[in-house]
Amino acid sequence: MTAAERCRQWPHKWYGIWHGGSGDVLPAVEDYIDTSWSIPDMKAVQYYLAHAPVLFTVLGGTCLVDPSHHFSSRPRTDGVWLWFDDLVHYVDAHHVRLPDEMLKHIRSSGCEPPTEWRVNGADIPRALEWPMWPFPVIDRFIRRWNGPLIARGGPRSYGLRPASDDGTTRDMPGTKE
Ligand SMILES: [Zn+2]
Repeated sequence: MTAAERCRQWPHKWYGIWHGGSGDVLPAVEDYIDTSWSIPDMKAVQYYLAHAPVLFTVLGGTCLVDPSHHFSSRPRTDGVWLWFDDLVHYVDAHHVRLPDEMLKHIRSSGCEPPTEWRVNGADIPRALEWPMWPFPVIDRFIRRWNGPLIARGGPRSYGLRPASDDGTTRDMPGTKE
């Protein structure tokens, strides 16, 4: 099967969470590399991937294709799809192709990601499909906070924060990992 066929048939609402060699069942990034893939709105799509709301701040990662590449690896969501910061690196540097349905969803917004995502902490497992559930970081987070949360977009976001009545956020004590 080619990368294009895999992307046409991708059945999930998460993407770019790759097999890390630890016996997991995640897909291998190599299977989604398509050097012939070319789209006219690539820059706008990459902007979307890099600016959607951040769920959590996690430790940076190392590139699975070229271990000399290091990047931040925070999960992001637009409320429908879930991916990690480094997806834009794989797309940009290694010709990783996006699933057809994901691209369609991104374009349906004019490639403008939402600036925030509101969710109740306990609803996160139902709101988003994660490839491996329970996902330990999320699990810990939900156990600590079960109220209304806001995830902000942008390159500097640190992730979900409790939502106050006035729509602002405050720092959450005791969640530093
Ligand atoms: Zn790389």
